[in-house]
Amino acid sequence: MSAPNKSYDPVEVEALKPEEVERARDAALAAVAAAADLAALQEAKIAHTGDRSPLALANREIGALPPQAKAEAGKRVGQARGAVKQALERRLVELEAERDARVLVEEAVDVTLPWDRAPRGARHPLTTLSERIEDLFVAMGYEVAEGPQVEAEWYNFDALNILPDHPARTMQDTFFVRAEDGSADSGVVLRTHTSPVQIRTMLTRTPPIYVICPGRVYRTDELDATHTPVFGQIEGLAVDKGLTMGDLKGTLDHFVQAMFGEGIVTRLRPSYFPFTEPSAELDLKCFVCRGASVGDPEHPCRTCRSEGWIEWGGCGMVNPRVLIACGIDPEVYSGFAFGVGLERALMFRHNVEDMRDMVEGDVRFTLPFGMEI
Ligand SMILES: [Zn+2]
Repeated sequence: MSAPNKSYDPVEVEALKPEEVERARDAALAAVAAAADLAALQEAKIAHTGDRSPLALANREIGALPPQAKAEAGKRVGQARGAVKQALERRLVELEAERDARVLVEEAVDVTLPWDRAPRGARHPLTTLSERIEDLFVAMGYEVAEGPQVEAEWYNFDALNILPDHPARTMQDTFFVRAEDGSADSGVVLRTHTSPVQIRTMLTRTPPIYVICPGRVYRTDELDATHTPVFGQIEGLAVDKGLTMGDLKGTLDHFVQAMFGEGIVTRLRPSYFPFTEPSAELDLKCFVCRGASVGDPEHPCRTCRSEGWIEWGGCGMVNPRVLIACGIDPEVYSGFAFGVGLERALMFRHNVEDMRDMVEGDVRFTLPFGMEI
């Protein structure tokens, strides 16, 4: 506040002089008018109506005046403050309207634009198929067993009765892993089948054993319409007292019936594998024509090529030599094993004609199979 007011004349108090009040009011109005946005208006409001603004200071000086002088000074300052307050309110309404109009344009959302630019993918049908088979066997009391894809030769060949000079060892074209010293003879391969998982299981568990072994395997084939160097297999192994080929056949019949429908059975054709004895090729009755296309050239079947049966895999009773290699007494226990190819199943089950479609990872291939889990 100013020093004591000798004459009590409001005009003599510097802040209350009419020209001072007028100047403060005009400055405030000019600042309000010049405020280009809401932030600038807020600054002008603080500067010209805040506690430290000239008009607020002038207002406080009124209190020091004698009663008779207060009215005139109060009127002068009050009118000025009222004018500023009104100008502020008007400008606020204008600027808010401007902002709203701008936001409507700047933040407009075009609801007609496509919103799903990142399309949802789908599970690969090989994964779905493998899981479906696993579930089927788990329901029969089997456990899922897995093993490494880079495997010791002993597990992949020797323990399965595929001895170093055995013709089967060259029948399967194998990826050998180079040793650290650069020599080819590391004793390590990319597994050529999922059978080493069976060996690992028999070595670590005591019978009864019921396992289903899904996984990727490798052969040195070039990728073309009917070959791929990496593909999926699923094998089953049962070792228990008194198992026979009847148990194998019954298990396989239940398996293909659950996968392909009522009345679809298997057919076993004599074959040879070093790790099973006896061994058989595994065929299933064609689930499309159910054999009706055989000898009926008028109604050919694409799925079985009018043969009535579809070749799918191999099976047999576990060779006693394999049981012995795994420390299981073949006088007490017997076992059966079977293996099927997943890509092959996808080909005849869904009429996929080119193997490359399954490995190239194009979402356009997997999408029609959907998100089945
Ligand atoms: Zn058929």
